[in-house]
Amino acid sequence: MALRTFVTTLLGAILLAGCSGANEDTELQEVNLYSARHYDSDLPLYERFTELTGIKINRIEGNADQLIARMKSEGTNSPADVLIAADAGALWRAQEAGLFQPVQSETLTSRIPANLREPDGNWYGFMRRARIVAYDAAKVKPEEIDDYAKLAEPRFRGKLCVRSSDSVYNLSLVGALIEAWGEKRAEQWVSGIVANMARPPEGGDRDQIRAVGAGVCEVALTNSYYYIRMASSDDEADRKLTQRVKLGFPSLDGKGAHVNISGGGVAVNAPNKANAVRLLEFFASAEAQSHIAAENNEFPASPDVTAPSPVDSYSNFTANPMGVAAFAARQPEAQSLMSAAGWR
Ligand code: FE
Repeated sequence: MALRTFVTTLLGAILLAGCSGANEDTELQEVNLYSARHYDSDLPLYERFTELTGIKINRIEGNADQLIARMKSEGTNSPADVLIAADAGALWRAQEAGLFQPVQSETLTSRIPANLREPDGNWYGFMRRARIVAYDAAKVKPEEIDDYAKLAEPRFRGKLCVRSSDSVYNLSLVGALIEAWGEKRAEQWVSGIVANMARPPEGGDRDQIRAVGAGVCEVALTNSYYYIRMASSDDEADRKLTQRVKLGFPSLDGKGAHVNISGGGVAVNAPNKANAVRLLEFFASAEAQSHIAAENNEFPASPDVTAPSPVDSYSNFTANPMGVAAFAARQPEAQSLMSAAGWR
């Protein structure tokens, strides 16, 4: 820890200890964060929170299912205060397991649009990510990929790359299609996607984008930030590739692109609840959203936060207004549709 940070932290801790709210008296100046976000760029943000509040963040990392299992087994003794994850479905699963408590906060409800948070306040989305399409601009016209329905059409037989069905990003997308279209039509779409696969699913989103660049497929499903990161990367090959492989924003029923969130909620047995709420409020701040947008290339959730470079070049798209809690709850249905259709 830098000396300045240390001194600021110390001062903050003394100041907070001095003003004795009933809660603050009994709570340590720390907060236990269970994080399923896998991005190093979050670390300076945690330091900044400590600098501002004097509250130290103890971080436990894992994938969402590991953290959910851990919280379940820890039960009422769980030290978890906050759980954050990079998918609405993961937050919904934690909620279903009874791991969150609803939080009412004027700051959170005013900063986070209603469709990007759980209606009862169990979890809140701080950043948005669109699940969209990377396409070979030499072979595909933008109007051929302007609707999710078109990706499942025979036009793209053997020409589509996508990762496996256990990706929560895909589960949320199919969940959104079920929510919009009903199960039958979503099932037909999933079958069309399986028929269109250029190869069995392998790798992550960046591998799909690179496969388009290598001519393995013409279109690929990807989260927006993976593409934006490649387009602004230090890696020359990645940057060059994004001159030929473009980013397209398909629409769902003419209402805009499917948008997922990263976000979090307060643990049901949070030992430091007040600090947990402060951490969520910090994530919802313009400063935190700008930082994550700049570093991880996600889009801010709050409409008043201007997207920084390089995200700004991609942020002017129509986002589907569907509630994230609605498609998140459809993940189990999505999983069974996809498995039945052979999307491995
Ligand atoms: Fe990711």
